[in-house]
Amino acid sequence: MSADPELEAALARASEWVRHYFEDARAYPVLSQVEPGSIRRALPPSAPERGEPLDALLDDFERLVLPGITHWNHPRFFAYFGITSSGPGVLAELLIAALNINGMLWRTSPAATEVEEVATDWLRQAIGLPEGFSGVINDTASSSTLYALVAAREAAGLDAGRRGVDSRRLRYYTSAEAHSSVEKAGLVMGTGSAGCVRIPVDAEFRMRPAELAAAIARDRAAGLTPFAVVATVGTTSTTSIDPVPEVAEIARDHGLWLHVDAAYGGAAAILPSHRHVLAGCEHADSLVVNPHKWLFTPIDCSVLYCRREDVLGRAFSLVPDYLSNPEAGRVRNLMDYGTSLGRRFRGLKLWFVLRAFGLERAREVLAGHIEMAQKLKAWVERDPDFELLAPVPFSTVVFRHRGGDAANRGIEETVNGSGVAFISHTTVGGAYVLRMAIGNLRTTEDDVRAAWEAIRAAAAQLKVSSQTSSSKPTS
Ligand code: PLP
Repeated sequence: MSADPELEAALARASEWVRHYFEDARAYPVLSQVEPGSIRRALPPSAPERGEPLDALLDDFERLVLPGITHWNHPRFFAYFGITSSGPGVLAELLIAALNINGMLWRTSPAATEVEEVATDWLRQAIGLPEGFSGVINDTASSSTLYALVAAREAAGLDAGRRGVDSRRLRYYTSAEAHSSVEKAGLVMGTGSAGCVRIPVDAEFRMRPAELAAAIARDRAAGLTPFAVVATVGTTSTTSIDPVPEVAEIARDHGLWLHVDAAYGGAAAILPSHRHVLAGCEHADSLVVNPHKWLFTPIDCSVLYCRREDVLGRAFSLVPDYLSNPEAGRVRNLMDYGTSLGRRFRGLKLWFVLRAFGLERAREVLAGHIEMAQKLKAWVERDPDFELLAPVPFSTVVFRHRGGDAANRGIEETVNGSGVAFISHTTVGGAYVLRMAIGNLRTTEDDVRAAWEAIRAAAAQLKVSSQTSSSKPTS
């Protein structure tokens, strides 16, 4: 007899639901179609006094919560960067929640520290980063980049951690196309947005090294203090790749820390065909890659690799008496590498995913995504009503209907409103453009084609309605 038959039945029901969900996610509209406030109105305003049966919770999960879910795990989720969960990842999350450890110190669960060390080192090897880079898992790339920049400031010898600094004179450099998280780090560090100098890009949206060198020299001459450069491998809008070898040389010549944001693009380096995307990154001081973006690991899992872990530790280590531990100095205490003290056992899910897939299968899936993106690119190029706006080095295609911004907005809204697929937009050269990122484990060519057909149908429909409205008498 089970000691807790209710829990046992609920776990069985939940695991059955997960199994079906992975098989049948296409049955759901990708983008939630609910009205703002509707979920909240359907829920009681206060917690119940008496506990409710788990079955009732699962009923309400299906009845009330699911309609308010945008299905990131749907094979036709093409917005932003698709993240994808996987069976091994879900299994690990269940065990992580059951253990509920806090891996702040090595002794608070030696396995949490050491499995994380092993899993991040496996990934390091798989993407071709040299030995000497050690990994630590954070929640998001936004945190990883912030921590890297704080380490960079520490490395600049300003003694910021101890004495504090007036950060308004500090400067770091990134491309005009870099993710907003790079600039946001400046809001936290006190440099403000002004401290994050945006370097212009070339016709393929890559940082211009000469402009970088000129900006650093200009700031130095003005008495400002440059301390870091952030290059991107796989920018958010167009997935462009900054020329890291040249950028690294400039950073080295000026004694600046080089951080690489490879949150999305880094995973592609597990493919021999794409190893080159991390060329030059061996010279970086730090690099972030998100297995929760393109490596089947449930969110959250962002790996910060650092070649100067001592500096990262110096920037963040602060050990009160109640956390002192006899192993200090002989082991890594993960609390020493970021702002959060408590940390989930994230290493377990990366370890499960890498083991269950194996690099071979992981490569097959990523290569499949890249191939589907090339097909979509070819369909766009063949259609005279559409145009491609950027090279496609990974699995993201950026394009637009030639009808202008309003037409593209209309197409996006129509497709997303239909529930058939979820696509998103960006701006390129000031124009409103469409963007499809392929990253879901279960996406097939039919899914990509269905989304493309929905886009074309929306364009045709909008053309008809705009003709109809323009042919209306104006009286
Ligand atoms: N860097 C790049 C290139 C991104 O595209 C994104 C998000 O899409 C981020 C950083 C931020 O990622 P996170 O949500 O993990 O903070």
